[in-house]
Amino acid sequence: MSAPAVMDAIVLGILGMLIGSFLNVVIHRLPKMLERRWADECASLQATDIAAVPAPAPDGGEDTYNLLTPRSTCPHCGHRIRWFENIPLLSYAALRGRCAACRTPIGLRYPLIELLTAVLFAWCGWHWGLSWTALAWCGFSAAIVSLAGIDWDTTLLPDDITLPLLWAGLALSAMGILQVSLEDAVWGAMAGYLSLWLVYWAFRLATGKEGMGFGDFKLFAALGAWFGWNALVPIILMASVIGAVVGIGIKLIGQLRDGGYVPFGPFLALAGLTAMVIGPQRILSVIGL
Ligand SMILES: [Zn+2]
Repeated sequence: MSAPAVMDAIVLGILGMLIGSFLNVVIHRLPKMLERRWADECASLQATDIAAVPAPAPDGGEDTYNLLTPRSTCPHCGHRIRWFENIPLLSYAALRGRCAACRTPIGLRYPLIELLTAVLFAWCGWHWGLSWTALAWCGFSAAIVSLAGIDWDTTLLPDDITLPLLWAGLALSAMGILQVSLEDAVWGAMAGYLSLWLVYWAFRLATGKEGMGFGDFKLFAALGAWFGWNALVPIILMASVIGAVVGIGIKLIGQLRDGGYVPFGPFLALAGLTAMVIGPQRILSVIGL
């Protein structure tokens, strides 16, 4: 490991820590923002009288809710989190994982997501140096981490993340920034979407149940765009094996949620990150196939 590689890893690692802190906000707020948007759309569809449509709140009004507004508060006591309590990883350590005002424990998942993002970004810096390729894969990591978190919490994979991720994979391969050719990326995106779409309909016709959601098809299509069509089989095998093991584990410890549904997105995400770090063709040996 040469000195520039270490510096590149440190620089991107610090950036990853900051981005990871933002991803915590995305994971927490984006589903709520989408719910509000859907509720607004339903209300305006149902309102026959135009006057019944509530006027949108002006910007900066009390109802504004986006990734930047309102400022983060402690969910327990409402204490507004000050900037020096919001430094990724360091504040959590300094506060020993508790709210500065009421000492309620802060979820371990906040620093873990910051740490995971920092490690992934640092790995990109170490592997590709400070380059467009490294930045592209940092962006990939950030999108994948937020999708995994949101899907785990809500069983949703928002189009607002999956579709830009898919287009970015195609565009970056066309620009020669990724390791795949544009042709492989296009076939990867199509095969990724169609394969899970077929599995969905086969499962639905056979059992009358829905085994996965359309977000899974879009995420798999995005992975096809970033890694090329020939990475799809290793990725889906790894996601299925780990998903089955975790799903059975959750069932055994009696933590299954209502409807018995374990989201598939986090396992696709894990397989995608593994493909980034070790290369998609080495995945099969990792899961022992
Ligand atoms: Zn508090």
